[in-house]
Amino acid sequence: MNAPHRLLIGNIGQLITMAGEPHARVGAEMSDLALIRNAAVLIEGQNVIGCGVEDTVYAAATTLGDFDEIDAAGAVVTPGLIDAHTHLVHGGTRQGEFEARALGKTYAEIMDGGGGIYSSVLATRAATLPELVAAAKLHLAEMLAHGTTTCEAKSGYGLDLETELRQLKAVSILNREQPVELIATFMGAHAVPAGTDQGDYVDWLCGVALPEVAASGLARFNDVFCELGVFTQEESEQILLAGKRFGLQPKIHADELNDTGGAALSARIGAISADHLHCASDVGLLAMADAGTIAVLLPGTAVFLGLTVHAPARRMIEAGVAVALGSDFNPGSCYCRSMPLIMSFACTQLGMSPAEALAASTVNAAYASGVGGRVGTIEVGKQADLVLWDADDYRMMPYAMGANLVRTVIKKGSFCVLP
Ligand SMILES: [Zn+2]
Repeated sequence: MNAPHRLLIGNIGQLITMAGEPHARVGAEMSDLALIRNAAVLIEGQNVIGCGVEDTVYAAATTLGDFDEIDAAGAVVTPGLIDAHTHLVHGGTRQGEFEARALGKTYAEIMDGGGGIYSSVLATRAATLPELVAAAKLHLAEMLAHGTTTCEAKSGYGLDLETELRQLKAVSILNREQPVELIATFMGAHAVPAGTDQGDYVDWLCGVALPEVAASGLARFNDVFCELGVFTQEESEQILLAGKRFGLQPKIHADELNDTGGAALSARIGAISADHLHCASDVGLLAMADAGTIAVLLPGTAVFLGLTVHAPARRMIEAGVAVALGSDFNPGSCYCRSMPLIMSFACTQLGMSPAEALAASTVNAAYASGVGGRVGTIEVGKQADLVLWDADDYRMMPYAMGANLVRTVIKKGSFCVLP
């Protein structure tokens, strides 16, 4: 058997390890990047086997035998970024709707003009599995180019079993065919299909779709859009508890446009995360802090939609809620594939510091996606997912708004080909 390949990344100006206790960061922990200057990382096969001050890591590498070496030339190195919330797999695009919104059209007018979520449902139902895979592959290449190495991906544009399973199958194929690691979420409860009775649809989700999806083994999480006019708190609870019985962990789109008690619900049913939360109550946030439910904030969506209400990130961090970030990449309300840009919005719109935004896009996003034990930090024994940035100070990442500072991406110990 061949000896595993070893790679040393030396001359790192700032190594952001995010090392620490094995749980999502809360409060002041979110500002602790466990930063090491003049550092090196040693990789063997797919994993990190050494990281720290360069001299020490170099000496350890030398005693082990041969290794390849790359010179980071004083650059910042971070864990690969993790996008904790996307609607990656879908058919079609809605740039016409984006234009209409820019020209002042309301959502009702856009729906009347054939836009809105149902246009994506029709386009996704019409797309073949190879078409869905091919489209998502282009999005993933773009995400990887911006430093994303792990990404949560939801279904939810089929609203029928055949299409929902096709979306989830696409995620499974994409996991084998390109480097960004995907975690699949079933989101049949994204909307009620046009012309379907609300109660009948909830019954179908709980009695037919969820057992079928769970049996397919294609999804890890079950997500619901809990919002006025979509699914009530009671319906959301029913759907999430049904999923739980079949082994699908709950996630929830909560309190995005109105306070519908989604934050408190997420805590009560043991959801791994509650996402959006623009209008979450203090009571709900405290319940989340107590339960350890992670808040996944999606500031790109409000920016994309031109909204001025943002999630109360500071109140969350002060309340002890672990905050993660996601792009919410989707065809209707946020067509953004860049986590560094999301970090910029977190700083400018949510009042998060660059360090907090980085913690939210690495270790906390990993825990929100159920993979915190393996990725999200640079530590001995963790998977070697790293990004080298064209920057000598990590604050450049959100500061250089809209620029792509990614120089090199390493996923599972291998260099990625960037587009
Ligand atoms: Zn979403």
